[in-house]
Amino acid sequence: MNEYLKHIVNKYRFSAWLIVFLVLLLFVPLLISANYNFQAKILGIVITVLISIALWNWRMQTARKIIKASRIKLNLNDRFWLDRYIKFYSKLNKSDKIVFEDRMGLFLAEIIISEIGKEVPDKETCFYVASSAIIAYWGLPYWNYGELSEVIVYPDNFTSDNLVKENAFIEGKVHHGGIMDATMILSLTALKKGFSTNLDYENVGIHEFSHLIDKSDGQIDGKPYFIEKEEEFIWFRLLDEEINKIKNNNSDINPYASSNYSEFFSVIMEYYKENPLDFEKKHPKLSHFLNKKLMN
Ligand SMILES: [Zn+2]
Repeated sequence: MNEYLKHIVNKYRFSAWLIVFLVLLLFVPLLISANYNFQAKILGIVITVLISIALWNWRMQTARKIIKASRIKLNLNDRFWLDRYIKFYSKLNKSDKIVFEDRMGLFLAEIIISEIGKEVPDKETCFYVASSAIIAYWGLPYWNYGELSEVIVYPDNFTSDNLVKENAFIEGKVHHGGIMDATMILSLTALKKGFSTNLDYENVGIHEFSHLIDKSDGQIDGKPYFIEKEEEFIWFRLLDEEINKIKNNNSDINPYASSNYSEFFSVIMEYYKENPLDFEKKHPKLSHFLNKKLMN
């Protein structure tokens, strides 16, 4: 079965059981009216036992979620890991590192991270996901992750049907509308690759979380919420100018940015976050705009 479908089935299994109980319950009056009183009694007992087990299970799961809601504290090993694998973090000063860790603790407490094929996600995977979020949103005075409630991590790149296959090329996906509106999907291979170097200006984690910043005004359209109404014209003019340069092979920005305005915003965020100095040198107008808004 499709990994995505398996995940959905898993997510809604509680509701499925509830329907089974209700259907079984309907049989009790039917049996009584047909004078099968003994069978009705047995069915009643079976349903009561099953509902008790289900309620106990649900109570345990809820208790686990409540424990999760308190902010997670990072230890010395976690900080060492961040210093080694997250270049953005390693370059921060001491007080900013504390802010980063604090935001990470909050992210890990609030957002569910599921790793396909694993009962419990690896800590390393969770740290890569959380770091992507913190870096993308870094510099914003007020922020939240909107409706996002879960990040699903696939072991590798996937197809448009959410299947992990050889030659699949999708590295990440943010949903907009529908049943998966609150969900993001990331490929673990691509996620790790994004953090392996800052020299390629590519980082799928930062890319997808930048789509979320873009989405926070209700539209994924390449105009994030912090662009004021009177700035829209100049913002889109800058985007058009650079997209033309990309199409004429005259830009160092990843050509994928020329797909549309929303991809443009997420692609330049990868560049800007991975190497702000290079970005400023080569794209001063765009850099000035982002600096003003993201206070980096
Ligand atoms: Zn994208």
